[in-house]
Amino acid sequence: MVAKILVTGGAGFIGSEVVRQLATQESSSVVVLDCLTYAANLDSLAQVQGRFALEQANVCDGNAVRRILAEHQPTAIMHLAAESHVDRSIDGPAAFIETNIVGTYTLLEETLKYYKGLTGAARDQFRFHHISTDEVFGSLNLQDPAFTEHTPYHPRSPYSASKASADHLVRAWHETFGLPVVLSNCSNNYGPWQFPEKLIPVVIGKALSGKPIPVYGKGENIRDWLHVSDHAQALRLILAQGRIGESYNIGGNAECTNLDLVRKICQLIDELAPNKDGTAHEQLITYVADRPGHDLRYAIDCGKIQRELGWKPRETLDSGMRNTVTWYLNHRSIYDRAQAKGERLGLSKQ
Ligand code: NAD
Repeated sequence: MVAKILVTGGAGFIGSEVVRQLATQESSSVVVLDCLTYAANLDSLAQVQGRFALEQANVCDGNAVRRILAEHQPTAIMHLAAESHVDRSIDGPAAFIETNIVGTYTLLEETLKYYKGLTGAARDQFRFHHISTDEVFGSLNLQDPAFTEHTPYHPRSPYSASKASADHLVRAWHETFGLPVVLSNCSNNYGPWQFPEKLIPVVIGKALSGKPIPVYGKGENIRDWLHVSDHAQALRLILAQGRIGESYNIGGNAECTNLDLVRKICQLIDELAPNKDGTAHEQLITYVADRPGHDLRYAIDCGKIQRELGWKPRETLDSGMRNTVTWYLNHRSIYDRAQAKGERLGLSKQ
């Protein structure tokens, strides 16, 4: 049976990588359900144009979701549609409550009705894969062990609270109504096609244009960086082989402070696109007021997915960051288009 996978948020940063990978497989066909917010970029799907169907719809619109499920008859759903930027959630939480909580609820309700109408192999094989974040676990101190799948939830921002709510709803629809779900919680992603207001594209864009590179606080916050292609591979594996009702943590085994990360990027740009006068891009680093409630450290223990599904990241932080900086150097026009859409540099107004 050819898999037909409905990818919500398929025009976003991670969703588009999932779609690019799925669309090049003979064994699957893809439907993208995306309402095309500011964060969507259809250019990211140009290389697989004609190999997926696009449904411009909002996950909060039950009628639209019902029609799309009935028309396309997906064998699985990968739910990535979300409001995803923590800073925006501080300035305007409402959209996060609406899309991440109400949208997930609406999608679950319509999916359950659709699932109940399936029979035979289609019913046995159906999966709903909810894609979430390690931010639901809260903040770690330097000496704390990394997050496992058993770490209690302790979200601290409107974004992470809305994602935690969605995770709980997905588990409830499994436990209460029998919807076959799998979940995954991953660390910070980076790679091609990330929206320009996120940290890594901001740093690359500022360095290339010779403008101050903003670093929150003292740059001491630690994240575990995961290349988006490794993440998409893990998601495909979880969908195909993950155990129903289980969640899987996905990380890059690449903990790094923001300051070290920014320095690494500057050094790569010194090498790949040096300043004419030979000055180091690091000189552009400018410390700015910290984000309110900024979580100190996230770290992922991805032992479970490694043991059960044999997955581990292929990219190291060095190889992945070199590939990413090179990609942005070759796609500089993206910054101009994104700026025209109203770039926001990730600095909270509050
Ligand atoms: P993104 O912001 O780049 O893309 C989100 C996509 O969802 C966009 O194409 C947007 O148009 C679409 N969308 C938003 N609201 C919608 C709605 N109401 N209906 C339909 N479509 C809608 O996000 P991303 O970085 O690709 O993240 C994808 C998923 O992965 C999210 O669920 C996010 O919480 C999760 N995640 C992301 C990261 C990361 O580092 N980027 C880390 C962990 C988890």
